[in-house]
Amino acid sequence: MGLALAQARLAPEHGDVPVGAVVIASDGTVLGEGRNARERDGDPTAHAEVIALRAAAARAGSWRLSGATLVVTLEPCTMCAGALVLARVDRLVYGAVDDKAGAVGSLWDVVRDRRLNHRPEVISGVRAAECATLLADFFAARRRPPTR
Ligand SMILES: [Zn+2]
Repeated sequence: MGLALAQARLAPEHGDVPVGAVVIASDGTVLGEGRNARERDGDPTAHAEVIALRAAAARAGSWRLSGATLVVTLEPCTMCAGALVLARVDRLVYGAVDDKAGAVGSLWDVVRDRRLNHRPEVISGVRAAECATLLADFFAARRRPPTR
């Protein structure tokens, strides 16, 4: 989660909401990292998880990331929850809950839907306060009037 938080902290440099993700192999190797880059890339799908999964698949040489763990600072949305199921990651670890768009327990529970063949293990609330504070500070700074 430390690596995911480090990624998240870089996102505001390009005007993006601070969410970071990392994919770790079963032996502990970092396969891929990513941070939210919708503004930077002008891409609605450029969420931290998707970027990290793409990097991990490229490094692993396979779309199938069995044995891997996806660690992300914020509860995944429907797109990212779907993507991590498709990537066959074994485990999802996330920090802060996303009451507005979360798809791993909050609004939906895509990852643990019993109709799916592949259901990753979910560990939530890891360093949740740090992950949430990063987001709250980002949005608070945006609302503050510009200083000269
Ligand atoms: Zn997402």
